[in-house]
Amino acid sequence: MPRDGRRPREAAVVRAQRALRGKDKREPTPPSVAGAPRRGSHRPRAVIDVRDVHKTYHMGSVPVPALRGVSLRVERGEYVAIMGASGSGKTTLMNILGCLDTPTSGVYRLNGLDVRGIDEDTLSDLRNRFIGFVFQSFNLIPRTRAIANVELPLSYGGVPRKLRRGRALEAMHAVGLGDRLNHAPAELSGGQQQRVAVARALVTNPAMILADEPTGNLDTHSGAEVLGLFERLSAAGRTIILITHEEEVAAHARRVIRVRDGQIVDDSRNAVVTS
Ligand code: ADP
Ligand code: MG
Repeated sequence: MPRDGRRPREAAVVRAQRALRGKDKREPTPPSVAGAPRRGSHRPRAVIDVRDVHKTYHMGSVPVPALRGVSLRVERGEYVAIMGASGSGKTTLMNILGCLDTPTSGVYRLNGLDVRGIDEDTLSDLRNRFIGFVFQSFNLIPRTRAIANVELPLSYGGVPRKLRRGRALEAMHAVGLGDRLNHAPAELSGGQQQRVAVARALVTNPAMILADEPTGNLDTHSGAEVLGLFERLSAAGRTIILITHEEEVAAHARRVIRVRDGQIVDDSRNAVVTS
């Protein structure tokens, strides 16, 4: 038993929580030069620190290498697009960054916390508390009001009912849908559904938002709305990882990482766009 007498899993979560949140007070989010690593003697701790990560799937006895030696650091407040053709390994990388899957080899530190050897239950707690996911297909629960969809990660996270509604309301307002609380997903446009999904990702106040092709199912106008939303979140200091195969979408991020055949082939900064 650990010294503080908690059950091991709780202790691991508390340690992780300290690792992920503990420095917030001393190291406030850098202001709106989102993405620019701060200069000076104190290098900020990376939210994401991936070292030589490999991921190999197995189709029967045939190994399928999906990631082949990926190394990557992302600082707090960065807005990063990960680009690559279909099959290049983007989703595999997102699954690892999101603690939905683990590397075959290599190290992944999430805000300093080495996720190797953390059991599945604890990983799922980490996901719930520290990562907000946005998927191409929205993944909202049908026949369930928007506000209830947004509250869901809070119920999984054990947040008391009384607090859940207020936080979900805040998130719905943040995405500009304060007037659509009681609509079911089918009663909303694609763009609105994706904004509900962004509210759901935001509601836990995660350390980062991971979005996999979030505009892939949207028309140009709705896609632009969602990207505008990400831009505002980035300006407010959120860390955003956006996976896309579209150049126009990647152009919104401050930094673009290109993946080919499971390897990073380019990592460059976009000029800061002021909108
Ligand atoms: P992307 O998201 O860039 O399209 P993926 O990460 O989904 O690429 O896939 C990378 C490679 O890994 C592809 O060759 C794909 O076929 C393979 N792959 C992905 N997931 C699996 C899996 N669960 N089992 C076997 N092969 C997989
Ligand atoms: Mg993919």
